[in-house]
Amino acid sequence: MTATTLVSETPVWTAINSVPTQYPWLDQDETCEVAVIGAGITGALCALRLAQAGVNTVLLAANAVGYGSTGVSPGLMDYDGAGTLTHLSKQVGMDKAVRAFELCSHALDEMQSLVESLPEDVGFARKDSLLYTDNPQIANILRQEYALRLHTGFPVELVEQPSAREQYSFPLEAGILTKGMSAQADPYRLCHALVNAAQESGARVYENTCVESITTEEESVQCLHTCTRHCVRAKKVIMASGHDCAQFTGGLLPVRKAYAIATKPVDEFAGWPNQINIREESAQSIYLRTTPDGRLLVGDIPAASRLGGLVILPKTADRRYADLECRLKDMFPGIRGIEVEYRFAGSMAGTTDGLPIIGGMAQHEEWYFALCPGVGGMLWAEVASRLLTALYKGETCEELALFAPSRK
Ligand SMILES: Cc1cc2nc3c(=O)[nH]c(=O)nc-3n(C[C@H](O)[C@H](O)[C@H](O)COP(=O)(O)OP(=O)(O)OC[C@H]3O[C@@H](n4cnc5c(N)ncnc54)[C@H](O)[C@@H]3O)c2cc1C
Repeated sequence: MTATTLVSETPVWTAINSVPTQYPWLDQDETCEVAVIGAGITGALCALRLAQAGVNTVLLAANAVGYGSTGVSPGLMDYDGAGTLTHLSKQVGMDKAVRAFELCSHALDEMQSLVESLPEDVGFARKDSLLYTDNPQIANILRQEYALRLHTGFPVELVEQPSAREQYSFPLEAGILTKGMSAQADPYRLCHALVNAAQESGARVYENTCVESITTEEESVQCLHTCTRHCVRAKKVIMASGHDCAQFTGGLLPVRKAYAIATKPVDEFAGWPNQINIREESAQSIYLRTTPDGRLLVGDIPAASRLGGLVILPKTADRRYADLECRLKDMFPGIRGIEVEYRFAGSMAGTTDGLPIIGGMAQHEEWYFALCPGVGGMLWAEVASRLLTALYKGETCEELALFAPSRK
């Protein structure tokens, strides 16, 4: 088992924050009820919920806490992180698609409650969100999507010309504005604050402790062998290792290489009312947000590929960073002094239907999976932490069927 999460150059969050806490590596053997592999947002949330439920928990991070894809994510939390209802309903049926959207929006409320209980400021802010396109063909799809969301009870407004021109400085053919069902945070600080809270609740946390292999001992005890030559014995293991989980789910899942840039702080945000979270719907989508210290952050969400997602080619990266800078300046000609300060890229896994993989597998009853990919990953991580804690405690969780690793 290896940790292959890729990050290039300097992610804005790890650059503008000092390291909140450093944790020891595993220097003795450990025994626990549940061992959580991976200390990104998913592992952090799982360890916290389990520890709060009184479960004896160990959290293991291959490198530093929050340095996986969590550290390169823009930290957007959108109720529609699973994609569009139109697409998802074609994959899983309308009832399940609506249920997934509801679970995501409930996760946003749960995340807000959790954040409000933390002593640290993690840059959390509730936001409106805009899903838009400047392509007339995709605009028709967005209009249908708007009607579907309205019909199923989500608080959406259709944004169209000519009124859009008065508010937004970028070309917009159609858009769906959703009120108050998105949020943003500093994902690196959030991850650290959650790990800190997990430790306060009794979890033991080890950094720079890569799990290299797992063997099964008597009475199905799982023995996790780590790179520090010590092992952790556990009744159950939660795989929260980002796209490294993919090797246990029947092959390599599509992995995307996503690029992002962050500017130096700017003084005003002309053409970007209320600095809402923005996502473009297109073949190569982009997302945009601002940061509490006044930076503009824009990144792309490319189509999934299998091997290409694991490789960062310098020339490709330079072109993608330059494209993002041009897009940003074209979209907001009224914002003066746009100057790029950070350029970074990361890998994100994906599933065919866009939903996370949460739960156990028949062939490995002692392993639970918490693979929370894609642009909705942070909220899915919240869902995973609650469902897996309930599963460990023997409670019935009907929702797990939606996310079963064995689903087609
Ligand atoms: C550019 C980009 C933009 C994104 N934008 C968003 C967004 O706006 N909103 C959103 O919700 N999501 C977004 N995502 C997805 C985001 O990555 C996930 O939502 C979330 O951060 C994933 O967290 P995680 O904990 O599951 O994985 P990670 O943060 O990748 O953490 C997994 C950890 O497991 C560790 N690990 C792996 N193998 C082992 C091992 N064998 N032993 C010990 N540790 C191991 C890794 O080192 C890593 O630190 C984005 C991703 C990228 C790359």
